[in-house]
Amino acid sequence: MKDKNSTLKIAVIITIVVFGLIAALVVLNNNQTTDQIESTGEQPPIEGQPTMGEADAPVSVVEFGDFKCPSCKAWGEMIYPQLLNDYVDTGKIQFSYINTLFHGEESRLAALAAESVYSQNSDAYWDFQKALYDEQPDAHDMEWVTEEKILEVAGKISGIGTDQLATDLEEKTFMEEVNEDEELVSEFNVQFTPSIMINDIMVEDPFDYEAITDLIDQELERTEE
Ligand code: CA
Repeated sequence: MKDKNSTLKIAVIITIVVFGLIAALVVLNNNQTTDQIESTGEQPPIEGQPTMGEADAPVSVVEFGDFKCPSCKAWGEMIYPQLLNDYVDTGKIQFSYINTLFHGEESRLAALAAESVYSQNSDAYWDFQKALYDEQPDAHDMEWVTEEKILEVAGKISGIGTDQLATDLEEKTFMEEVNEDEELVSEFNVQFTPSIMINDIMVEDPFDYEAITDLIDQELERTEE
């Protein structure tokens, strides 16, 4: 009887130790995950924002971008095309762009132009966005976002009325939309550009494509559950 009891005791102790270890591992693992990403618990509203992809795509990816920011230009050239190919064109994500004004009046002017173009022609918008980023010089600190440059860029894209655009810039027609974007930047605590959010998760390194795809896949799985 005694032997049986002690065997039972040892079995119970081993079980407790094993479960304790598993629990510790789970906690460690979770801590690692939260180190890498920051979940705000809310995702940016994309209504009224330029958005690529199918309306019923299950995951939302948002870029907070600034036309004056060199990293945003680089992101648009290095990461965005892969994202478009792998996730937008396959109907898995919607991709939206929110203006971020971290470089003063030129950022504002570019954002006002972008909102005007978007209101005129939501398809031509994406050509305009790319073409304007293409104009960003290596010496990005010099003044280059001017009304003249904006109209020159827009004039090369079909479907954009440059007279309307000039009037909108003159009258700051889309100031309210730009202000709304600025409010989102502050609400979602955007610290640098580009900032990328996948649903409610802020990506720590926007140039780590593998981390981005892991997060998107994780969110896709979550929406399937
Ligand atoms: Ca906007």
